[in-house]
Amino acid sequence: MASEADCIFCRIARGEIPSKRIYEDDDLLVFPDIHPAAPVHLLVVPKQHLESLANVEAKHEALVGKMLALAPRLAREQGATNGFRVVINNGPDGGQEVLHLHMHVLGGPRPWKRL
Ligand code: AMP
Ligand code: ZN
Repeated sequence: MASEADCIFCRIARGEIPSKRIYEDDDLLVFPDIHPAAPVHLLVVPKQHLESLANVEAKHEALVGKMLALAPRLAREQGATNGFRVVINNGPDGGQEVLHLHMHVLGGPRPWKRL
């Protein structure tokens, strides 16, 4: 399990690993996926380390709602005007590779690669 010290998304949030910051506020950071599966492929990441959706508690409801509510704005601003997809992978069987909660926002003209 990645600790906050060596978690790749915590390191990006702290600026230790450079990323193109598409959007940022006190709670969230958005940057492009390094292996895009679609013409638009962003990751919406809470700045606080939460391992996955399985670790979300009642106190995180506003944060998770903010992540979801940001998706249409990001899709629109990135030019994905013909629809978009949001994906949150959770745990081993859910295909989660980075153990820091993140939401994929995918869009742009088809075809896309498999996520
Ligand atoms: P998941 O399978 O949902 O855990 O997806 C993790 C995603 O993080 C993958 O799509 C990776 O391409 C992406 N990723 C891993 N490392 C980086 C990085 N340094 N910058 C941007 N995206 C990354
Ligand atoms: Zn983290």
